[in-house]
Amino acid sequence: MGRVLVMLTAAAAVVACSVATAMVRRRMKGRRKWRRVVGILKDLEEACETPLGRLRQMVDAIAVEMQAGLVSEGGSKLKMLLTFVDDLPNGSERGTYYALHLGGSYFRIIKVQLGGQRSSLEVQDVERHSIPTSLMNSTSEVLFDFLASSLQRFIEKEGNDFNLSQPVKRELAFTFSFPVKQTSISSGVLIKWTKGFAISEMAGEDIAECLQGALNKRGLDIRVASLVNDTVGALSFGHFHDPDTIAAVVFGTGSNACYLERTDAIIKCQNPRTTSGSMVVNMEWGNFWSSRLPRTSYDLELDAESMNSNDMGFEKMIGGMYLGDIVRRVILRMSQESDIFGPISSILSTPFVLRTNSVSAMHEDDTSELQEVARILKDLGVSEVPLKVRKLVVKICDVVTRRAARLAAAGIAGILKKVGRDGSGGGRRSDKQIMRRTVVAVEGGLYLNYRMFREYMDEALRDILGEDVAQHVVVKAMEDGSSIGSALLLASSQSVQTIPSV
Ligand code: ADP
Ligand code: MG
Repeated sequence: MGRVLVMLTAAAAVVACSVATAMVRRRMKGRRKWRRVVGILKDLEEACETPLGRLRQMVDAIAVEMQAGLVSEGGSKLKMLLTFVDDLPNGSERGTYYALHLGGSYFRIIKVQLGGQRSSLEVQDVERHSIPTSLMNSTSEVLFDFLASSLQRFIEKEGNDFNLSQPVKRELAFTFSFPVKQTSISSGVLIKWTKGFAISEMAGEDIAECLQGALNKRGLDIRVASLVNDTVGALSFGHFHDPDTIAAVVFGTGSNACYLERTDAIIKCQNPRTTSGSMVVNMEWGNFWSSRLPRTSYDLELDAESMNSNDMGFEKMIGGMYLGDIVRRVILRMSQESDIFGPISSILSTPFVLRTNSVSAMHEDDTSELQEVARILKDLGVSEVPLKVRKLVVKICDVVTRRAARLAAAGIAGILKKVGRDGSGGGRRSDKQIMRRTVVAVEGGLYLNYRMFREYMDEALRDILGEDVAQHVVVKAMEDGSSIGSALLLASSQSVQTIPSV
């Protein structure tokens, strides 16, 4: 009996020992995996670092590339496109105008009425629809007929709002958020598609003519009177309200900027034919590239798998279309190299499944248990991860967005440097007294809706410029600025009123 008891006790001790060993092993393995994941995060943080010194190098590089792009066609990855816009709205415009805006994710139709004073601007209708994915890969005929039919519905809804004694022709600004080589204020040819668009049969076609053709086919009496890049629309809107506005930047699905340049600095344009001595230049800054940009292995993978690899390098680091996918790639790598996210989710392996609005929702989740993070991870096929893993996800969002916002700030400072509004005074930093108030109009869903992006960008811009200069620079956010601004720009380019005020 005594021997049996001894044997049983010994066996129990052996079992307890091996259970304990297994637990210790599992815990050690768990710790190793956690260390591995922390290592991935640390590598990401290092690769995304944007210290002030590096940002200043970016500022210089952007200003240099801007210059190179102005000197000769193809002189830089920055196309520095002519817009033929030399006069911006100032508030004295009159009449009723329409704008149709094809963005990266949305298209909008608006109607504005102007009574000759800033305060009389009336944005009468705004329609905003998301662009069906099928349209992004369709043909030019399908695209333009879709836009024409949307405009037709919009006009029909107006009904008899206009009780006109004589027939009038409606005037439309076509706001187009893709690179176009403009041949005049109302014509231009698509250079390439970006932001996931791949519509065939567009090469060499005049964009405004395509839309006009589609409107004519439907018997709509509307004239496509101007073709406007969205950044130029935003600049027009900014200038209408505040004449110190000299540049505009869009942070939406993609990113781009334009600014007012002296015509004598646009060396590649022999005969700019402007009366004001300046012209708005569409930088197409999404294509900016510098070997000093903080690029990670995730950026390289994203680029390699994109339909426009080796192109739009800057946009792929700061555009709303891409931030979510960078975050997704980091989470996927972590889930492949550890089991902290449970079994590898097939949803998580799907490109672009994590949108940037979910990134901001996770980043700005202020619940103590990070419930929003948990919910979004669940949608990605990752359930029930502990709080420390959810915190890790928030950190990834922070690193990716902070880099984007700081690079965006460097872009803005680059423009200010190019036009001599960065306080460097051509190397004479003591010229404080000549600093003029400078307004940069900013719009786009990323900037308007993602508070952390906005805060990081504003902070970095202040750091780059220094407090003394930053106090003269105003970054003004504006909703729908590019659509409304295009209509205002059209109004300012027309001397006669097209539709009498109702
Ligand atoms: P478009 O690019 O079509 O002109 P917007 O300027 O409205 O349209 O930008 C839409 C983009 O802004 C979305 O694709 C998304 O990347 C980003 N965005 C929208 N809402 C948010 C949000 N809440 N948080 C972060 N990004 C957002
Ligand atoms: Mg836009």
